[in-house]
Amino acid sequence: MVRLVLVLGDQLTADVAALKAADRARDVVVMAEVMGEGTSVPHHPQKIALILAAMRKFAVALREAGWRVAYSRLDDAENSQTISGELLRRAVEFGASEVLATKPGEWRVLQDLEALPVPVRVLEDDRFICSQAEFATWAEGRKQLRMEWFYREMRRKTGLLMEGDQPAGGQWNFDHDNRKPAKADLLRPRPGDFAPDAVVEEVLALVEARFAHFGRLRPFRWATDRAGALQALGEFVEERLARFGAEQDAMLEGEAFLSHALISPYMNIGLLGPLEVCQAVEAAWKAGRIPIAAAEGFIRQVIGWREYVRGIWALKGPEYLEGNALDHRRALPRVYWGAETGMACMKAAIGQTRDLAYAHHIQRLMVTGNFALLAGVDPAEVHEWYLSVYVDAFEWVEAPNTIGMSQFADGGLLGSKPYVSSGAYIDRMSDHCAGCRYRVKEKVGERACPFNLLYWHFLDRHRERFQGNPRMGQMYRVWDGMDAGHRTAVLAGAEAVLGRLDRGEVV
Ligand code: FAD
Ligand code: SF4
Repeated sequence: MVRLVLVLGDQLTADVAALKAADRARDVVVMAEVMGEGTSVPHHPQKIALILAAMRKFAVALREAGWRVAYSRLDDAENSQTISGELLRRAVEFGASEVLATKPGEWRVLQDLEALPVPVRVLEDDRFICSQAEFATWAEGRKQLRMEWFYREMRRKTGLLMEGDQPAGGQWNFDHDNRKPAKADLLRPRPGDFAPDAVVEEVLALVEARFAHFGRLRPFRWATDRAGALQALGEFVEERLARFGAEQDAMLEGEAFLSHALISPYMNIGLLGPLEVCQAVEAAWKAGRIPIAAAEGFIRQVIGWREYVRGIWALKGPEYLEGNALDHRRALPRVYWGAETGMACMKAAIGQTRDLAYAHHIQRLMVTGNFALLAGVDPAEVHEWYLSVYVDAFEWVEAPNTIGMSQFADGGLLGSKPYVSSGAYIDRMSDHCAGCRYRVKEKVGERACPFNLLYWHFLDRHRERFQGNPRMGQMYRVWDGMDAGHRTAVLAGAEAVLGRLDRGEVV
């Protein structure tokens, strides 16, 4: 009997479990471009275009490798516009008895597959270094799931940056040498753009006609096949990796990319594997081309953070998405969808998100994430925004980063304290404040930086939860040491900012 082999838009590799388990002489690969997925949240047009173009190219590669592929284009007349609908249609067409699928990276999609009236075999997605079972074993019985301990296990498991059972360079962590503010006067090699070919142009026209979501579609700069993704990786390793560690947390006006890799979308849709990426980085260090701090800083992100958040997502299940430990209820302010703002740091992060579908980690965490948390925005709305606007956003990686790391909505599973800061952090790590309508040094008054006002408002309103936190006690002592009149003025200033956000006025 024929089986259908489902390949989703973020499973574009011959290494994906369902393809490895299938028989190319007998089974039919099903790939489907559907409006149901393109509009499940208002995905950035560049993200939709990347996935559709990469799917089309991968389908060609599969056919060349001898697979039968039933491919549904978005504008096919008979397209039912849902994954389930297309599977049922193909099941009838080919008289198929079973569907083979690789576990999707979104609970909603898994639930849809499990509800199908044909038998579906869902295989574990083994494109990760740590399997779900291994993560669950590691997590069992631990009070706190500290990323650092998990990361060391992954170093030992992969042998990356290891000398025997000891970390290369004598340390597990080189953060001390990394994370510096960036210098505005340095010339940085900009990552190369991939000019759209005929396949990409056709997809761009389709996306332009069908999706009116937030975000600019053009210029479209992403690679859409494995060869391009490998080229992007090679270019990063040669040209930017050496400064990656030092610049990892820095922000500069007009410099969207700094020394970042820009490879998360390729890893997340299957064009690159996490281990091969880390091995390329390690090789550059072994060849003496980059400092160990840069190699360690990068590898930590991939075999540490990336694997860890995936483990949390799989372990905690769909309920994790509902977390709202701080009971935050504010609607997402309009500024996140591009409304005017006088806050230079927010304008830069959201503006480049609109134009490029990209912002780097510290922009996501300490600018847009920090602001949403301080302002008490409903984490479900924050989650939907991050899932929508970034080219690399898939639930398994986006949700733990947003709901856990950024919004503390999981009550502290991912981080022992919330990632909140006043304007001082942004001032230290960026050059945004110099050109801002607000004054980062002012603590009260019309011109006071909104981060300053909201920071104390956040601490004040969550005193019961955080005062006893050993990493936050000092800040409460500072707050309590301020005179009562000043504290009242700060809280009133914060309330005024929140009122403007609620009324949809410019902040
Ligand atoms: P670099 O800064 O060059 O880092 C190298 C690689 O490390 C990345 O490609 C990525 O694969 C990995 N990495 C780094 N940090 C993380 C992390 N915290 N979690 C997982 N992987 C990490 N990453 C996504 O891939 N998809 C998302 O939807 C996503 N949403 C996020 C939402 C929030 C609120 C925050 C704070 C972070 C989010 N991240 C997400 C993590 C991180 O911001 C991106 O992986 C990174 O910015 C991608 O750009 P880059 O390839 O230039 O990364
Ligand atoms: Fe951002 Fe405040 Fe600095 Fe303006 S002053 S750029 S709002 S941190």
